[in-house]
Amino acid sequence: METPSPAADAADAPSRWVGTSWKMTKTRAEGVAWARSLVAAAERLGEGAWAGVQPFVVPPATAIADVAAALRAPGTSWVLVGAQDAHWEDAGAWTGELSVPQLADAGAQLVELGHSERREHFAETDERVALKVAAVLRHGLLPLVCVGETAQQRDAGRSVDVVLTQARAALDAAGDQRCVLAYEPVWAIGERGREARPEEVAPVVAALAGLVGDLGGSARRNPVLYGGSVTVEGATGVLEVPGVDGLFVGRTAWRAEGFVALLDLAAR
Ligand code: PEP
Repeated sequence: METPSPAADAADAPSRWVGTSWKMTKTRAEGVAWARSLVAAAERLGEGAWAGVQPFVVPPATAIADVAAALRAPGTSWVLVGAQDAHWEDAGAWTGELSVPQLADAGAQLVELGHSERREHFAETDERVALKVAAVLRHGLLPLVCVGETAQQRDAGRSVDVVLTQARAALDAAGDQRCVLAYEPVWAIGERGREARPEEVAPVVAALAGLVGDLGGSARRNPVLYGGSVTVEGATGVLEVPGVDGLFVGRTAWRAEGFVALLDLAAR
């Protein structure tokens, strides 16, 4: 499978996306071992096993170059490698930060932005996410923007309102270029989260798809993924929700076997 052009509304757009962010886990050696397991599974299953599915992996910045090298073995160039954040400036006096050109130099093709952990703990705002989306696209990488409401916001009936505000900021910055959205309800993420039921996901994803359409986009240009405590057992139910174009997964995919199982389900 060819790697689709990240920033374009290309005709070769995949029909589903399955990706994982490793957050602040894995050494370089552990990341390379994961990548080698994925390559081995792909070779075992043969050409076309995950046809139409775009896999991606978002390691910690320290492991991007090694994981990218391990995945760019012959026959595996279809796995996109990403970064977990980027600064909006190309260079400068920003101690501790990494720019999009630096991440691209390390091998990143995609940049995750606006994860709820960054919004909560690192004061990430919609304005900053928008600046970062523009920077990512300026350098030809693919932005993946996470949106999601807290439990309190859901209880107050504000899920759609919150998520659309976050998504609009990102999509306005992206214009007619490709930008992937991941609906990740904050109450569903991580060890204290619970996997959302398909009926909880459906209205929010429908609202996101509606926004994409209103802005002249499409599922090709702005696929909507679901993330938050996805399990192999629960993945099919979420993938069947209309408007869900794939999965963005943490813990279940940190073992390569879990990621492979999710790719298998998405390819069915
Ligand atoms: C996440 O943090 O974005 C996530 C989806 O994690 P998990 O699958 O572990 O809930």
